[in-house]
Amino acid sequence: MREREIPWVTSAPRGPRARRTCDTVGMRITVLAGGVGAARFLRGVKSAAPDAQVTVIGNTGDDITLFGLRVCPDLDTVMYTLGGGISEEQGWGRADETFGVSGELAAYGAGPSWFTLGDRDFATHILRTQLLAAGKPLSEVTRLLCERWQPGVRLLPMSDDTIETHVLIDDAGRSLVHFQEWWVRLHAAAPALAITAQGAESSAPAPGVLEAIADADFVLFPPSNPVVSIGTILSVPGIKDAAAAKTVVGVSPIIGGAPVRGMADACLAAIGVQTSAVAVAAHYGPGLLDGWLVDEQDKTAADDPALAGIAVRALPLYMRGTAATAAIAQAAIDLARELA
Ligand code: GDP
Ligand code: CA
Repeated sequence: MREREIPWVTSAPRGPRARRTCDTVGMRITVLAGGVGAARFLRGVKSAAPDAQVTVIGNTGDDITLFGLRVCPDLDTVMYTLGGGISEEQGWGRADETFGVSGELAAYGAGPSWFTLGDRDFATHILRTQLLAAGKPLSEVTRLLCERWQPGVRLLPMSDDTIETHVLIDDAGRSLVHFQEWWVRLHAAAPALAITAQGAESSAPAPGVLEAIADADFVLFPPSNPVVSIGTILSVPGIKDAAAAKTVVGVSPIIGGAPVRGMADACLAAIGVQTSAVAVAAHYGPGLLDGWLVDEQDKTAADDPALAGIAVRALPLYMRGTAATAAIAQAAIDLARELA
């Protein structure tokens, strides 16, 4: 934002300031994204760098088939949020929703009833399923859905192959359930013994994904779930190596030893990582992560030997409103440019 206030169109001063301003035009930023945490952060990126070309690589491990319809919660959260259709109170789902179809399904006794699907949202899933059934890959279907929403970023699923996160839980005996069943129906209360991205090993990145990483000026990790959002994207063969070759700056989803929202602590426990800003960065490791933003509460992370090789900056990380979120995105961009 600061940089846009410098006039550069006709009366641009010659010299370093002018050059720096022009550099932000056409800047290429690639962001790996989960759902709500990522979508809010992306609003900040668009506000801090309105002239940048932003490519978003979305998590599809949360995808699930319900009532025969393919539902992609994280892709839709990004698409609706950036396209102005999100329910602001929830952070997911459509604004001004009604639940006529869900009510009718329940009247038939058809389940599951634990996953909320509104009437407006249903239209997205019906059209997506129809296009997939006609043979279009998910990346093409996502592009077509975004023609309506115009999110202002290029939104790519991490893969066109089906990958589903499954959770081995200890719920009066061991059972393997879909991530959504553990997260939404069980509120992650049953301890996860293991979390696996089913199908990831034999999957390939969607067209354009590796190129978007390779061609980016830098890669950003929003404050998304490190296990079931960012971790799942990184489990698609090729993505982690491509990102490791670039400058990567991440934003901690953990503040003061707890997730800001949701139950990321339950996911971290399943992979043996502590719920702290330091432990999450150390889990990504200096081979992948170059810079890490932590909240002011966690500023001692900057001196933690566990983060040797990672540049740590502390600032307020609560995404409260547009200005606060844009400041976080600006700090991530500034650090990435400094390290690139
Ligand atoms: P999901 O797929 O909807 O769960 O969304 P993400 O994976 O993108 O993000 C979930 C993470 O966002 C959680 O671990 C939260 O702690 C984090 N988060 C949510 N709001 C904020 C915030 O205001 N600041 C920070 N730093 N993290 C946040
Ligand atoms: Ca998600």
